[in-house]
Amino acid sequence: MSQVFIISAPSGSGKSTLVRNLMERDGNLIFSVSYTTRAPRGQETEGHEYHFVSRAAFLEMRARDEFIEWAPVFDDFYGTHRRYVDQARAEGKDAVLDIDVKGARQLRERIPEAVSVFILAPSREELEKRLRARGDVSDQVIQKRVAEAAREIRDYSQYTYVLVNEDVEVASGQLQAIVKASRQGAGEGETAGLRSDNAAVQKRVTEILATFE
Ligand code: 5GP
Repeated sequence: MSQVFIISAPSGSGKSTLVRNLMERDGNLIFSVSYTTRAPRGQETEGHEYHFVSRAAFLEMRARDEFIEWAPVFDDFYGTHRRYVDQARAEGKDAVLDIDVKGARQLRERIPEAVSVFILAPSREELEKRLRARGDVSDQVIQKRVAEAAREIRDYSQYTYVLVNEDVEVASGQLQAIVKASRQGAGEGETAGLRSDNAAVQKRVTEILATFE
């Protein structure tokens, strides 16, 4: 049985690097390339990070029920095409979906057995630093993203696991361990300490949330 992994994180949490490392290090995964109405940024190319489509094309696809989930994020639409999940199932692989909190909620309703991972930066200060380091956003946009991050973090308990991305290599290892442990027949082992219902995880998230107040 193939598994569906949902990975969500407020923007600036370092999720893209963790997902890239995961895809490079685990050959049994299919990454779902989302459809978006936003324009490509920097080095992004069609079909690699996203499928870039017009608003009209997106709405047509949505009307044909081609998305297994979709959501408005900031000022654009984003959606997961059903074919990636279908392809993973057909090939006996697992699907990796990098989607926002709203999309994750829809997906859990459709695929309740999906395993979800929420990634967060260790503090508001660190999140702001990472957003500024990307250099592509104004102060106003950064404040909007920080406020949105606090809202998303409050929803962390909907996720199966929580990763605090303090050190990229440590967090990458933890993400790989979660994927391995979630495959059928595998024991949970060390990843039990990363579950969102673990008391130490809850305490850590509460401390991080306090930095946003
Ligand atoms: P960005 O524009 O910075 O690449 O992504 C913005 C947000 O959209 C991220 O939180 C990302 O996880 C989310 N996102 C990307 N693809 C999808 C998708 O197919 N569905 C949903 N619901 N969110 C997505």
